[in-house]
Amino acid sequence: MDITERVGELVQIPSVNPLHAGPVSGDGAERELSDWLANHTEALGADVVVDPVEDDRCNVYARFEGSSDRAVTIDVHLDTVGVEHMTDDPFDGRVEDGRVYGRGSVDTKATFAVVLQVLEELKAAGQRPVPTVNLVGTVSEEGGGLLGAARYRDWLLERGQRIEQIVVAEPTMCAPVHGHKGGIGLDVTVHGHAAHSSKPHLGANALSGAARVVVAIDEEQDRLAALEATTPVGKGTVSVTELSGGLARNIIPDECALYVGRRTAPGEDIAQVRAALCELIESSAAPLSTTIESLYGEGSPGFYQDPSCSLVAVLAQLADTSPTTAEYGSNALKYGEVAEQLVVFGPGSIDQAHQAVEWVDISQLNRAVDIYRSWFSQ
Ligand SMILES: [Zn+2]
Repeated sequence: MDITERVGELVQIPSVNPLHAGPVSGDGAERELSDWLANHTEALGADVVVDPVEDDRCNVYARFEGSSDRAVTIDVHLDTVGVEHMTDDPFDGRVEDGRVYGRGSVDTKATFAVVLQVLEELKAAGQRPVPTVNLVGTVSEEGGGLLGAARYRDWLLERGQRIEQIVVAEPTMCAPVHGHKGGIGLDVTVHGHAAHSSKPHLGANALSGAARVVVAIDEEQDRLAALEATTPVGKGTVSVTELSGGLARNIIPDECALYVGRRTAPGEDIAQVRAALCELIESSAAPLSTTIESLYGEGSPGFYQDPSCSLVAVLAQLADTSPTTAEYGSNALKYGEVAEQLVVFGPGSIDQAHQAVEWVDISQLNRAVDIYRSWFSQ
C-alpha cells in the first residue's frame, strides 16, 4: 500500500485520548487502533502481545524476528489529542497539496505507517530485518501520565529484558532528538480556617498562605534561572499555573488550591527535587498547613542521551540532519532504565501537531521510509 494511503487509513481510525473525549472526538479511546495494529502485525508475521493497561485500553507489542541478535524498539503512541477545536474533517485522511491531513497524521500515526511499509516491503522480498524489530503501540501519551510507556517499561523489567536501541516516535523533522526535560506536578492545598471577614483575627486566611507559596516559587524560579545549564536541554524551571479559593466576599477563606509545575533538567535527582520543593511549599505556607499530592506518581527525570552514541549518529547520518533537543516531553521519559540508547525521532513537524488543522508532508514520509529501510538493513 502507498504510504499516503496508509497514513490516511490510520487517521480514519479515531484514537482520541479519553481525557480529550468529546462529541466529535468520541469516547472509544485507543481500542479500535490497538485492535487494528494487533491484527495487522500478526498477519505480517509478528509475534503479538496485547497488554491491557487501564480500562480495557491495551498496549500492543509486535515482534518481528531479525537475522541478528540485536533488538530495537520503535515506540509509537496510539492516542491523539482531541478534535473539538479542529476546523476541517479531523478523520478524513485526505491527500492534498503534497500532504496527508487529519488528526494523528503527524502526531504520530505517520511512524506506524512508515515502519509497516518497510516491514511489508521486506516480507514481500522474502527478507527479514537485520535487528529484531519491536513495533510497540502505547496508550495514554497525550494525557494521563504516559501510562502505556510506563507499562511497557515494566513489562520489559518483569522479563529482565533490556533493548539496545529505542526510538520514541514524535514529529522531529527526521532529526534525532537526544534530550528533553522531565517534570513533577504537585497539587497543593493550603488549609486555614473560616471566620467572619469583619473579624479576620479569628480565622486563618488560606489565600494569604497560598500567596506566600506563589512568592516563594517565583523566587525559586529566579534561583534556577541563575544556574548554569549542564546540557543543551537547559535548566529546570518552576511555576504556579493554577490558583483557586475563597468561599464568599464576607468569609475568611478556609482553603486554597494551587498547582505547582516543576520541569526537571537532565541530571537533577527527581526525589531530591521533589523533597526540596515540598519543603519550600510547606515552610512558606506556615503556620498554615498544606496537603501536597503528586500528579502522576513521583515525576520523571529529564531525558538525555549522549549525542555521540551510535543510534543518534546513524539516524542523523541517514536523515542528513543534526542531533537536537526538544522543548516538549515524550515517552522517552519512561525508558531510561530499559534502553541502552534512546532517541526521539519521526517525520513531520511538531508545529503541525495538536493544531486546528493537522497534516504531514509526504516528502517527510518518504524520507522516513528511506531511513527506516536503511536502518533495518544494518
Ligand atoms: Zn506525540
